[in-house]
Amino acid sequence: MNLILFGPPGAGKGTQGKALAERFGIPQISTGDILRENVRMNTPLGMKAKEYMERGALVPDEVVVDMVKVRISRDDCRRGFILDGFPRNVAQAEALREMLRGIGKQIDHVIGIDVPKEEIIRRLSGRRVCRGCGANYHVIYNPPSKDSVCDRCGGEIYQRDDDREETIEARLEVYRQQTLPLVDYYTRMGIYRAVDGTGSAEQITERIVGIIGQRGNNP
Ligand code: AMP
Repeated sequence: MNLILFGPPGAGKGTQGKALAERFGIPQISTGDILRENVRMNTPLGMKAKEYMERGALVPDEVVVDMVKVRISRDDCRRGFILDGFPRNVAQAEALREMLRGIGKQIDHVIGIDVPKEEIIRRLSGRRVCRGCGANYHVIYNPPSKDSVCDRCGGEIYQRDDDREETIEARLEVYRQQTLPLVDYYTRMGIYRAVDGTGSAEQITERIVGIIGQRGNNP
């Protein structure tokens, strides 16, 4: 099963990606996570991506598309994968279609996670992330039990640079202009389904599983 989790920043793609990856035993591929890791390690890719990410802009397509191509061809994607944060525009969607066609695969479902704008801003501005395992927290709704320390792995919890208020608006604008047209694109292909992205993480996971129509560990 090859799945795209779609939605604005803060919709919960990362959280749902992790839950679904565990449930179905297939990897979550988050382009944002891969890019952040490259920035942290100061790789040539990270150095190229950094300034775009800091502004809340999209990293150039060719950089991200190559990165995804390499990741998808790894052996752990044989039985399927969950894309989180990719594609972000029509050119990337086209590139994805081509690269999958080349290896005899296709996208089965695109799940759009719907969350009202005020809720998105509340989530993003309070979001904190673990540097070690990537777990998400929120200063009010889901704080760690010990300040700045991850409950799961003991890693350091920090605020992403692009979750600061001034960058959030820029990211939402990029989403509206460049990413939102993909709803039409995938609706025309007949594989787009929207889910209500409000409620508990577990409730949302169940809604998605209901749409996909598969049981856990049975991709
Ligand atoms: P995310 O973690 O998905 O919110 O992504 C964080 C940042 O990484 C975005 O604001 C972009 O700068 C960059 N990024 C992530 N995925 C993509 C993509 N598919 N295309 C271009 N830039 C991306």
